[in-house]
Amino acid sequence: MDKLRVGVLAATGMVGQKYVSLLEDHPWFEVVYLSASERSAGKIYEEAVKGRWHMEVEIPEAVRKIKVENAADIKSARGCDFVFSALGSGPAKELEHKYAEAGIPVVSNASAHRHTPDVPMIIPEINPDHIDMIPIQQKNRGWEGFIVVKPNCSLQSYMTPLYALHEKFHVKSAVITTMQAVSGAGYPGVASWDIIDNIVPYISGEEEKSEREPMKILGRIAGNEFEYATEPKISAHCNRVPVLDGHMATVSLQFEEKPEQEEIIRIWENFKGVPQELKLPFAPKHPIIYRREQDRPQTRLDRDAERGMAVTTGRLREDAVLDWKFVGLSHNTVRGAAGGGILNAELLRAKGYL
Ligand code: NAP
Repeated sequence: MDKLRVGVLAATGMVGQKYVSLLEDHPWFEVVYLSASERSAGKIYEEAVKGRWHMEVEIPEAVRKIKVENAADIKSARGCDFVFSALGSGPAKELEHKYAEAGIPVVSNASAHRHTPDVPMIIPEINPDHIDMIPIQQKNRGWEGFIVVKPNCSLQSYMTPLYALHEKFHVKSAVITTMQAVSGAGYPGVASWDIIDNIVPYISGEEEKSEREPMKILGRIAGNEFEYATEPKISAHCNRVPVLDGHMATVSLQFEEKPEQEEIIRIWENFKGVPQELKLPFAPKHPIIYRREQDRPQTRLDRDAERGMAVTTGRLREDAVLDWKFVGLSHNTVRGAAGGGILNAELLRAKGYL
C-alpha cells in the first residue's frame, strides 16, 4: 500500500511534536507537511522547535528540514491526503473548517468542533460506527473533505472501562476525580511556581468537557446530527497535579444491575476494542489492562503500557455510596492526544474514508 501523505497543523507545540515523533516510520502515513503560527512560518522545522523540543526521542531525520508553513495558508497544504490538527481551539474553529472546505480531511485534537452537530467524536474502541456521519457531513456542507475529532484527554483514562461495563450493565451515574499531568496544558503550561509542591483544583473548561463529551460518544446518529445519550449522569472533579505525563482518574460507578467484581475484571481483561482483522498499527492488543496489585496503576509505572495506547485500571472495590470504584490511567499526550488521533486516522483509512 502506498503511504498517505500527511500534514501536521500546529506541529511545533506539545501535541504537534508528539505527532511528528509517533509518525516516524509509520507503515501507512508519511509526514510531508508541517505548519504552525506565523511566528514559526518560514523556518525549517528543527529551527522552529529549537530550545523547545520536549520529546524523549530526537527530531525524526525525515522532518528536520521541512519548511514550516503558516497554518492559515490552506493552499500550502494542497499536497496532503489529510492533516492532523493539533491547533488550539481558537484557530481550530475557523481553520479546520477551511481545510475541510478545500477538500482536505482533518483529524483533530482540538475542542473547537467536538460538539458541532455533524462532526463525529471518536474513540475507535467505543463508537467506530460514528464515522458513518462523514458522508452526511459532506452532503450537509457540500465539502469534499471532512472533520473528525477525538475527545478531551481527561476522558481517556476512564471512558473505555466505563463503556465496557455500560454495554452490559448500564451505568446510571459516575463520580470521577481526575489527576492530570502538566503536559496536558502544552508548553510552557502551568508556571513551575504554581505546580511544584502543589495541586491546582481547577482546569478551565475541563469538568464540563468530562461531563458532556461522553454523552456524544455514547450517543447515536439521528438523521443529520448526533443524538446525545442521557446516561450515565457524570460528576467530574479535575485537578492539575505535578506529574509530567499521564492522567489518572478515580471513578465510582452506579449500575442499573450491579455486576460481580470478578465479572467486571473479566469484561475488562477480555475487552477487544477495535476488530483485530483491521490490523490498525496503533491499536493496543489489550485496550484495558487490569492490575491486581493493591497499589497499581501508578502514573510512572503504567502510563506507557502498550506503547501508551492502553488504559490501565486497578483497585476495583465496593463503593459505600455507589456500587463499585476503581482507578484508571492513560498517557495524555499519546492515547489522550496524538496516538488517539493516529488511531482515528488508521480507522478512517481501514474503512476507506482516507
Ligand atoms: P501548545 O504546546 O501550546 O502548542 C500550540 C501550537 O499551536 C503551536 O504549534 C503553535 O505554533 C500553534 N499555534 C498557536 N496559535 C496558532 C495560530 N493562530 N495558527 C496556527 N497555529 C497556532 O499546545 P498543545 O498542548 O500542543 O495543544 C494543542 C491542542 O491539542 C489544543 O487544542 C489542546 O487542547 C489539544 N490537546 C492537548 C492535549 C495535551 O495533552 N497536551 C491533549 C489533548 C488535546 P507556534 O509554535 O508557531 O506558536
